[in-house]
Amino acid sequence: MSRSVRTKPEGSGQALSEAYDTALLDLDGVVYAGGSAIAHAVDSLAEAREGGMRLAYVTNNALRTPDTVAAHLTELGIRPTGADDVITSAQAVARLISEQVPQGARVLVIGGEGLRVALRERGLTPVESADDDPAAVVQGYGGPELPWGRFAEACYAIARGVPWFASNTDLTIPSGRGIAPGNGAAVEVVRIATGAEPQVAGKPLPPMHRETILRTGAERPLVVGDRLDTDIEGAFNGDVDSLLVLTGVTDGAQLLAAPPQHRPTYVDADLRGMLRGQPEVAAGDGGFRCGGWTATAGTDRLELDGDGEALDGLRALCAAAWTTAGEGRCELDGGKALARLGL
Ligand SMILES: [Mg+2]
Repeated sequence: MSRSVRTKPEGSGQALSEAYDTALLDLDGVVYAGGSAIAHAVDSLAEAREGGMRLAYVTNNALRTPDTVAAHLTELGIRPTGADDVITSAQAVARLISEQVPQGARVLVIGGEGLRVALRERGLTPVESADDDPAAVVQGYGGPELPWGRFAEACYAIARGVPWFASNTDLTIPSGRGIAPGNGAAVEVVRIATGAEPQVAGKPLPPMHRETILRTGAERPLVVGDRLDTDIEGAFNGDVDSLLVLTGVTDGAQLLAAPPQHRPTYVDADLRGMLRGQPEVAAGDGGFRCGGWTATAGTDRLELDGDGEALDGLRALCAAAWTTAGEGRCELDGGKALARLGL
C-alpha cells in the first residue's frame, strides 16, 4: 500500500464534529480512566452528538458485552448510550471466525462473556473443551479469574491443527491497582506452548476497523484515541483520519518520535478538540509556525520560539520532528521544548 508520509498535523476550518459524520471513540484514556469519566468528556460528547455527529465506542476489550459497556457509559452520564453504539474486538473476531468455519460450528472459547455473546450473534456455538470437536479456538481477555487449565484446552486443540484466533493482542490492561497482563500476554502463553500463530482481529488490525464501519455505516469517520500503536495505527491501516487526545497513555515525546503509521491527523488536549477546528501548521524558511510558536530542527534537538497555546507549540514541534524523520522516527531531543510548553 503506498500512501504519502504525514509530515505535520492537519488544519481544519470546520469543527471536527461537523467535518466528520461519525466518531469512532476509544474508551480507556479517552472517555474514562479507571472508573471515572475524563475531564470534559461527558460535556464534549453531548455537544458533538447534539450537533449531529454519530458517536460509536470501539474497544479492544473482549471481556465485557456491548450491553455492559453501554450501561457503564450511561452511568457516567453519557446519554443515551445503547449496545448498538459499542463495537468490541469480540464482535470483530466472531465475524472473522464465521467467515472461515461452517455455519453453527463449535468454537472453543478461552475468554469471557463478551466473546460468548459475540459468537452466538454470528450463529456459532461456544464450547469449553478441546474434546468438544471445535472448528476454531478463540482467545479473548478472560479477567483475573480465568483458570490456567483453559490455556491447556487451547493448546490441545491447536496441536491438532484447529485454527486459532485472538480478539486482540494488547499485552497489558490498566486496572485500579496498576498494570495487569492483558489478552496479548495470555496469547503469548499459548504461542510459546504451541509454536502456532493466531489470526488477530483487534485494533490496529483491519478486521476491527471493518467491524466498526459495517456496524456504524460511517462514511466519513474520525478515529479518536489515546494510543499510537492501536488507535492511531488502526486509523492509518483503515486509511481514515484520526484525532489523538493527550488524556491517556501518550505523551508529547512519544508523539514527536512517532513513525508514519503512528502520526495522527490531529492532536488536541482532550475531547473538547472534537468541537473546534484545528489550526494550520505553516512551513516557511524560518521553521514551522502554529499560533504564536515557531519550531525548528537543530542538529541534535528540536528548538521552539514564541509563545501562545501549548497545543499550538506541540503541533509546530510535530511538524519539525516528522519532517526531519520522514519515513523513520525522529531522534532529536524535544525535552526542553516540551518542558517549555508544560507537556
Ligand atoms: Mg485507550
